[in-house]
Amino acid sequence: MNTLYQKKINEIFPEIIEFEVSLSKLSQWKVGGKADIIIRPRSKNELIKVRQWLYLNGIKSLIIGSTTNLLFSDEDIHIVIIQIGTNFSKVAVDGLDIVADPGIWVPSLARLAMQKNLSGIEHTCGIPGTLGGLVVMNGGSQRKGIGSVVTYVETIDNQGNIKRYDNSQCNFSYRQSIFQNIDEVVVEVGLKLNNGRAKCDIRQDMLDILHSRRKKFPRKQPNCGSVFVSNPDMYEDYGPPGKIIEELGLKGMNQGGAQISEQHANFIVNNGSAQSEDILYLINTVKETVYKETGYKMVVEARFVTSNGEITSI
Ligand SMILES: Cc1cc2nc3c(=O)[nH]c(=O)nc-3n(C[C@H](O)[C@H](O)[C@H](O)COP(=O)(O)OP(=O)(O)OC[C@H]3O[C@@H](n4cnc5c(N)ncnc54)[C@H](O)[C@@H]3O)c2cc1C
Repeated sequence: MNTLYQKKINEIFPEIIEFEVSLSKLSQWKVGGKADIIIRPRSKNELIKVRQWLYLNGIKSLIIGSTTNLLFSDEDIHIVIIQIGTNFSKVAVDGLDIVADPGIWVPSLARLAMQKNLSGIEHTCGIPGTLGGLVVMNGGSQRKGIGSVVTYVETIDNQGNIKRYDNSQCNFSYRQSIFQNIDEVVVEVGLKLNNGRAKCDIRQDMLDILHSRRKKFPRKQPNCGSVFVSNPDMYEDYGPPGKIIEELGLKGMNQGGAQISEQHANFIVNNGSAQSEDILYLINTVKETVYKETGYKMVVEARFVTSNGEITSI
């Protein structure tokens, strides 16, 4: 964005804008170049104003949550990044219904549901992202996805118009949703949970899930969770991705500062100095080796942010 626009945008949204942000500091994987501008709206109305202004001035934007599923290019990003975070995270509970802002932290939402004696999102209690990102990715654990309890999703398109999608219009499937393919920001999510379980059982399930994740997953080095999606046919023939990668001898493999985790082979960790390129190299090595040995094409869950601000599959 040229400096004239930078000056103008700073005059209009001074409290929610940051310039020259290092993505290797901000992002979960701790890789990436610099972003010219990040805007962090705190409400629907603020976001509408931001999107209208950008549209009227012909400026493209990219939406991110807490970046727990994103790999940023090593090059600088010159388009505007809109980050939806915990400053946009109100939530209301009414009987079995929850209406939540997109920036709410997923483990906090799972805990709130448990406290209200509501069941259905226990499986999300250890997923470190925002609700907006979780809905876009139809994320979950234990082979579940958040989509199964979503009643509706409200979005704001690139011109600032509000839209609403019922569950059937969200096209939820395993780690997929319609929102991965449209330039709209998730701004409100309706969920319907159930009250068929005792609070102590819900709580115990969540503790078990957290305990098992702590044991299995690397926690100290930056990572983006499971890199490869589990494919049911491949699972049947060979097992989960981590097991296959390990059996092919790739566990622990290093490239630059990146490493296929010694603890769990479906994780790639940053040992301190990884570049995006190193992580992509390891991903491609796994994909090629698994394809050669099993005939299965591995699908990557994390998404890549290119230097011109597009989010693509890896
Ligand atoms: C340690 C670790 C463990 C993990 N475990 C799991 C797991 O068990 N299960 C699982 O499913 N995932 C897991 N993940 C991945 C990740 O946490 C989830 O996908 C998460 O929900 C993404 O949320 P986010 O806010 O970080 O989104 P981001 O990574 O910032 O974005 C992901 C996608 O959503 C889009 N997006 C984000 N917010 C919005 C919004 N408000 N409106 C429109 N688009 C938006 C982005 O454009 C991008 O395409 C894990 C990640 C880590 C680091």
